[in-house]
Amino acid sequence: MGSIAAGDQKPHAVCIPYPAQGHINPMLKLAKILHAKGFHITFVLTEYNYSRLLRSHGPNAVDGLPDFRFEAIPDSLPPSEDDATQDIPALSESVTKNFLAPFRRLLARLNDHYPPVSCIVSDGVTTFTLDAAGDLGIPKIIFWTASACGYLAYLHYPHLVDRGLVPLRDMADMSNGYLDTKVDWIPGLVDGMSLKDFPSFIRTADAGDIMFNFLMRETSRAVMADAIVINTFDDLEAPALAALRNILPPIFTVGPISVLARRAVPGDSPLAAITTSLWKADSTCLDWLDGKDPQSVVYVNFGSITVMTGGQLVEFAWGLANSGYHFVWIVRPDLVKGESAALPPEFLEETRARGLLTTWCKQEELLSHPAVGAFLTHSGWNSIVESFCGGVPMICWPFFAEQQTNCKYSCTDWGVGMEIDNNVKRDEVEKLIREMMAGDKGRAMRAAAAEWKNRGAKASGPHGRSAVNLDRMVKEVLCRE
Ligand code: UDP
Repeated sequence: MGSIAAGDQKPHAVCIPYPAQGHINPMLKLAKILHAKGFHITFVLTEYNYSRLLRSHGPNAVDGLPDFRFEAIPDSLPPSEDDATQDIPALSESVTKNFLAPFRRLLARLNDHYPPVSCIVSDGVTTFTLDAAGDLGIPKIIFWTASACGYLAYLHYPHLVDRGLVPLRDMADMSNGYLDTKVDWIPGLVDGMSLKDFPSFIRTADAGDIMFNFLMRETSRAVMADAIVINTFDDLEAPALAALRNILPPIFTVGPISVLARRAVPGDSPLAAITTSLWKADSTCLDWLDGKDPQSVVYVNFGSITVMTGGQLVEFAWGLANSGYHFVWIVRPDLVKGESAALPPEFLEETRARGLLTTWCKQEELLSHPAVGAFLTHSGWNSIVESFCGGVPMICWPFFAEQQTNCKYSCTDWGVGMEIDNNVKRDEVEKLIREMMAGDKGRAMRAAAAEWKNRGAKASGPHGRSAVNLDRMVKEVLCRE
């Protein structure tokens, strides 16, 4: 990849993700690529996440480099216990109400002490930054870290409201088949979409209005940006991207961004060592996998936010145990709502020889390990893209947000996924694992996942679409004269 010709001063990009793991990780990759292209980088965390990095990785965790610096702004939430995932509705409300003033002060301070801030790279749901960039008259791009199909679905929330279909304020709406109402009039979305497949925040009887209103507001403000960057590739989401291109500022697909980042940043460079993992990863997982046959292990991870009931945890446990396969299962300490994530002693006893249980791992490395044969996932977008990069098919148990949409696409359009009912039962878990690991459908899905791996590698290869788009975005938007 080319870099910007060295002038007197580097261009200075301020990169600010929404303060949750699934947003921070892809933003870090984009920031590293921009640094490799000659930018001075300020990476903005919340004070809470900044201190979590220090606790997880030690006092040097946020040292960065002279021209790749971390800064922190307050999140204005009450202190949270035990490094748990924060309350997402409260955090989202605070992003909208409380982040702009400290962010403006930060920009003023950066302009006094560092190369002048020349552009802002903001998450798609932290659009308060667009006002700050507007004050300074500098380019502003939005990095949408989720799927294009999810973006398109969110952007149509107002149309669903206009047609009187949502929000779903009544519990009865969510249980009597209403969620199966077909929505076949949105250009770019896959055939067979129903309300069930829309990002879950339409279900306000369940979750309240906060996230529904937050996503409507944030996605409607995207038109104010100079460009939109998305961690997807054109082959994967062509119809959704074509539809988005009709309604949004110029779109640059840059996925899978992890491949671009790996190429831009040599593995032995100080930049490569910078991590934003909010939990400390268990480094024994890869060694454990090393001894296993190819495609023989089920990898289970529900990401950084998903919570479930103790009953659901037990159903997953026995489904895994009864499948007979080896597994790695990441059980976050806060995975079970309101309780500690305790597994039945009989389950632990029975699977001792073939299960590895731990609290956090280096997921991308696991998904690229040849021993992993299937991924039981909540269908978060990073998890899906990382699974494509490893060529691993998925068993999907979507939790919230656009994970429902991602699941729909995984199971239909992309041909790589099988869905587990939300009301999870051990027999179904067992059956789907067996089918995915050794059945005909599983074989077809593994072949499809391998094909997406190739296409993703092509897109992010040296002359691929995503690589070219990133260069163009830098030249045409971030460094425009
Ligand atoms: N992740 C990880 N180790 C874990 C669990 C998750 O490194 O044990 C990373 C994962 O690789 C991904 C991110 O955390 O980059 C989770 O993002 P995703 O969009 O999949 O889900 P979310 O956590 O936002 O629901």
